[in-house]
Amino acid sequence: MEKKFLDKVEKTLLAQKKEIISSLLSDKAEFNEIADGLEHSKDAVDYASDDMDRNLLEVLGSTELKRLRSIDSAISRIKQGKYGNCIKCGQTIPKSRLEAMPSALMCIECKSAEERKNR
Ligand SMILES: [Zn+2]
Repeated sequence: MEKKFLDKVEKTLLAQKKEIISSLLSDKAEFNEIADGLEHSKDAVDYASDDMDRNLLEVLGSTELKRLRSIDSAISRIKQGKYGNCIKCGQTIPKSRLEAMPSALMCIECKSAEERKNR
């Protein structure tokens, strides 16, 4: 996976994360501080995640929480250099799928198997 693509994906993921947090906490002053930090420093991203883990879990609906979790996993996989490989079977996820859904952690086959299982 080329660096340029990964940078773009990471930006998209951070923006999505911010959007989710923002829609949940738009009325909280401390969020604005975190949100400002998100744009400027990497530490603020870590801080935001820590803060969410500690304080905000109850506020989050399970759908948002799931989305945030997959966004966070995708970001950490970028950092580990594993982004773009399916977490189940290890196969490379097609770039077109990643572009459509940057937080995708599984290839289409594994994802649909998973959804069938959960149904
Ligand atoms: Zn797979």
